[in-house]
Amino acid sequence: MFEKARLKLTAYYLAIIMLVSILFSAAIYYSITNEFRRFERMQIRYEQDISEDQVIIPPPDTGRNLIFRVGKPDPAVIRAARTRILLTLAFINLGIFGLAGALGYFLAGRTLRPIKKMVDEQNRFITDASHELRTPLTSLRTEIEVALREDNLTDKEARKIMESNLEEVVSLQALSDSLIELAQNGKLINRNNFENIELSDILNIAVKKVEPQAKKKGILIQKKIGSFEVFGIKDRLTEVFVILLDNAVKYSTSKKDIKISTTKDKDKVIVDIIDHGIGIEKEDLTHIFDRFYRSDKSRSKTNGYGLGLSIAKKIIESHNGTISVESVVGKQTKFSVVLDIIT
Ligand code: ADP
Repeated sequence: MFEKARLKLTAYYLAIIMLVSILFSAAIYYSITNEFRRFERMQIRYEQDISEDQVIIPPPDTGRNLIFRVGKPDPAVIRAARTRILLTLAFINLGIFGLAGALGYFLAGRTLRPIKKMVDEQNRFITDASHELRTPLTSLRTEIEVALREDNLTDKEARKIMESNLEEVVSLQALSDSLIELAQNGKLINRNNFENIELSDILNIAVKKVEPQAKKKGILIQKKIGSFEVFGIKDRLTEVFVILLDNAVKYSTSKKDIKISTTKDKDKVIVDIIDHGIGIEKEDLTHIFDRFYRSDKSRSKTNGYGLGLSIAKKIIESHNGTISVESVVGKQTKFSVVLDIIT
């Protein structure tokens, strides 16, 4: 599809350039042949004006007379000159055709490259999303089919199956929410909705949201949060810190405390979230912000779709901020978010 569009665009470029070139060549040819005709007419008039067929021009310095023959210009010579001009113009046009074709093809490729990238990315997104949707749907279907085949299903067993189904449905709902969010992120982050926000407010809200899960694992979230004003969308920024804190809890072993702190660096504020959980392998570090990426270790240990960090990254980047990670496997993981402070 891309190659077809590229060739089509090249043909359009070429058609425009060749139209201009041919019109230009026709104008040149027309004016030159006009000049020839004018020259012919002048020669004829000049011939009629003088009785002799010779013109004698006395040069001022030599004193000798130079003799020029005057007569009708030879039509064969004029015809040959016209043919030569035509051939030269045709040759130039052929050159322009080749050059414009090659250049047009190259430029069409460059013009279409971002579109190709976007289409490729969308296709990958659809494939990845369908793949992720298939797993919970298959397990949901299998459970329901097995239950339906069972003739003597007790109330207790039915309830258990329904609970398990509900779990899958909740997980599917979370996945579809994340997918919608990722697909619409550009639209959700509208700079017209940006406002001044007290960073400590959103950090406290995010901590409160994950505290129940942390408590279940005996984890304490230590806060060292200062007061900073940032510019952005409150809900979206809160979501980022919920994702990071939720991961910190999810990938921590029991009773290992998590720390959230803020530090000022010139006109920026750095929010660090440190946990002492499983950590991230070096080869995973460069991929964890990619959509659907999950390390092998987390795949086997926790549920998730690998979408949280890519959503967080999109939100932070649309706030002109940065998000980064450092990790030592089995020791500590630190996520840092940097945002501009309103001064
Ligand atoms: P999910 O947690 O649903 O898998 P994320 O996009 O939030 O998706 O995270 C992507 C991957 O990054 C996780 O699967 C995990 O491998 C890794 N990860 C993220 N945060 C941490 C953390 N605090 N400690 C260890 N690994 C982490």
